[in-house]
Amino acid sequence: MWKAKHFGPYEFDGVSREGLSMPGTGEKNFSPEMARKLDVYHEALSAYLGYDICIHVHKNGGWAIKGHSDTSQHYKGLAADIHATNKKTGARVSLVDMYIVAEKLNLFGGIGVYDWGLHLDDREARGARWDKTRIRVVKSLAITEMVQDVA
Ligand SMILES: [Zn+2]
Repeated sequence: MWKAKHFGPYEFDGVSREGLSMPGTGEKNFSPEMARKLDVYHEALSAYLGYDICIHVHKNGGWAIKGHSDTSQHYKGLAADIHATNKKTGARVSLVDMYIVAEKLNLFGGIGVYDWGLHLDDREARGARWDKTRIRVVKSLAITEMVQDVA
């Protein structure tokens, strides 16, 4: 039974081909090491913003058997699709802030930015970056050279 400070294994449970939740699969298939990295990310993002936050793992956004690109890290239990909110007000944390902190930590091999939030993964190769937002949120910042990749 793995544990993380800010996440429960159930948050990474997969969804069946019929769309039903598959209890216990996050516990079995999601990487404890990735969960620990998400803990670090949670605390770093909160510190950066100066307020408490909630990080929401999306449905089918942890370990998965379908619904992602063919080579997705989700199928290996190494990826999480998330967004963050202010714990007190419920307001969404901006994609830019989420991205900056993910990049600064240097913990995630893959970082993808979407209108709904971030895809973070623990692939071995470093530096997979992509911005699929409508307005190219991250590219506009010129923080890093964006590399087109698959989520
Ligand atoms: Zn993803």
